[in-house]
Amino acid sequence: MSQPILQVEHLTQHFKLNRKEAVHAVDDVSFVISRGQTLGLVGESGCGKSSCARSIIRIYDPTGGKILLDGTDITHLSQKELQPLRKKMQMIFQDPYASLNARMTVRDIIAEPLLAHNIVRSKEEANDYVYPILERVGLTREHAGRYAHEFSGGQRQRVGIARALVLQPDLVICDEPISALDVSIQAQVVNLLRDYQQEKGLAYLFIAHDLSMVRYVSDVVGVMYLGQLVELCDSEEVYSHPLHPYTKGLLASIPIADPKLARQKQTSGIEGDLPSPVNPPSGCRFRTRCPYAKPICAEVPPCMKEVSPGHKLACHLYD
Ligand code: SF4
Repeated sequence: MSQPILQVEHLTQHFKLNRKEAVHAVDDVSFVISRGQTLGLVGESGCGKSSCARSIIRIYDPTGGKILLDGTDITHLSQKELQPLRKKMQMIFQDPYASLNARMTVRDIIAEPLLAHNIVRSKEEANDYVYPILERVGLTREHAGRYAHEFSGGQRQRVGIARALVLQPDLVICDEPISALDVSIQAQVVNLLRDYQQEKGLAYLFIAHDLSMVRYVSDVVGVMYLGQLVELCDSEEVYSHPLHPYTKGLLASIPIADPKLARQKQTSGIEGDLPSPVNPPSGCRFRTRCPYAKPICAEVPPCMKEVSPGHKLACHLYD
C-alpha cells in the first residue's frame, strides 16, 4: 500500500446544544487515504459526511479522535500552527454560489491563497499561477478579470476548483462538489478532477450522496449512517458485494433509467426517516429502519470488523 496522506482515527464531533444535549454528528470514524487515492464518503443528507470533512480540515475542532496529515498530528494544532500545513490540504465546497466572494475578481480569488502562503509577493506575480490553472480547469485568462456573479454554476465551481488546486495540494476534500450543478455539467467537473488527479497524483476525499457518481470516482468507498461509518471497502466490492443492510438500501434507491430493469429490481430503498442525531437509537443506529434487526441490535453497538481482506463492516449479521 502506498504512503498514507490522511489518517483519521476514531474521529468524533459532537455539537453541544445545551448542558445535557449534543448533536452526535460524527462518532468514532476511522479511515486512511493513501497518496493518489480517492475515498468516496456516502450516505443520506444529515448522516455526518460534511461534519466529518469540516472536522478533518479543522473548520471545526474535533471533540475526540486523531487526524494525521502526511504523518503530522493536526488534531489540536492552533490555526497559526496549521497555516503552513494548509497548502497540503484544500477544500472544494458544495455551493459555488456561496463559497466565492462576490466582491472579488476571479484573479483575486485564486491569487488569495498564493499570497497568504507567501508563494508570490504581488498580484502581478500571481498571474503566472492564475492563468495556467484557469486554463487547466477549462476557463480562459480573459475570465480572470470578471466577478463570480458573471458566471454560470458550473463555471463558478471551476473557479472554486482552481482556487483549491493552485497551491498543488496533496489532498483535496470535495464536499458534494457537484450536487448544486446541472446533471449535464456534473460529469465535466468530475472528469476534470479525475484528469488532474492522474496528472498530479493528489488524493481526494469525495463526499456525495449520489452513489453512482462515487463509484465512478472512488477507489475506496465508506458508507456513513447517523454519524458512524458502517461499511468500508474497495469501490467495486461495494457495488458487486454490498453487505451492510444500509448500503444495500442505498444502492436499491438509485433510480434505474431502463423501465424493464427497474421492474426486475428485487429490493426497495430504505424505509422511514433518519432518526435524530441528538438521541441516536441504542445499539445499532440503523436498527429502527433495518429489515433484519434482531434483539441484540438494540442492545449492543456492532463494531467495525474486517469480514474479508479490505472489507470492513459494522453489523451483527456478520458477527
Ligand atoms: Fe440491521 Fe442489526 Fe445489522 Fe444493524 S446490526 S444493520 S440492525 S442487522
